[in-house]
Amino acid sequence: MNLIFLGPPGAGKGTQAKVVCKHFNLEHISTGDLLRSVVKSNSLIGEKTREFMNKGLLVPDEIVVEIVAQEIKKNSKGFILDGFPRNLAQSEFLESALSSADIFLNKVFNFITSPEKVVDRLSGRRVCPKCRAIYHIKNMPPLEEGICDKCAGILAQRDDDKEEAIKERLRVYKQLSEPLISYYQEKGILCDVDGDLNVEPLFGIIKEILEI
Ligand code: AMP
Repeated sequence: MNLIFLGPPGAGKGTQAKVVCKHFNLEHISTGDLLRSVVKSNSLIGEKTREFMNKGLLVPDEIVVEIVAQEIKKNSKGFILDGFPRNLAQSEFLESALSSADIFLNKVFNFITSPEKVVDRLSGRRVCPKCRAIYHIKNMPPLEEGICDKCAGILAQRDDDKEEAIKERLRVYKQLSEPLISYYQEKGILCDVDGDLNVEPLFGIIKEILEI
């Protein structure tokens, strides 16, 4: 099974992808996470990537598609693409990469989310830099404030979860998402889901759709 999760930043795609991947034994391919690893690598390309990410802008396609191509090649059990594609050029690249590897997309879940919910989720989000677990200061707090339950890492706020970058990320998403949504709608594999729902009820809905 190969899926895409589309939706604005803060729609809960990453958290939901972790749950769905665990249940269906899929690989979670998050371009945001992969790019954050590139940034940490202290290379020239990492430095360039950081500049785009911290401003809330998209990283240039040539950097992102290379990373995704490698992940798809490595994958043997099916995947959820989370945060990719983000524009039409990326979806066209994906289509040709998948068809040359004889891989089919089963569904594209489009997370529909209200702007207030998105801002609340992003500004309260805390992440573990070591194991990438995701928390929320109100909705999903760790047992001990600021400490990851899973690996005792020190939780942090992402630089791009700060107010100015949030605004820019939402603006970029709005501008680029419509053609992408139409693209998958025309292919007949788009499925809208309510991204305002909490993790468990939304998982129930996604699971039911995938098990049909
Ligand atoms: P995310 O973790 O999905 O919210 O992504 C965080 C940031 O990584 C985005 O704001 C972009 O700067 C960058 N990014 C993630 N995925 C992509 C992509 N498919 N294309 C370009 N930039 C991306």
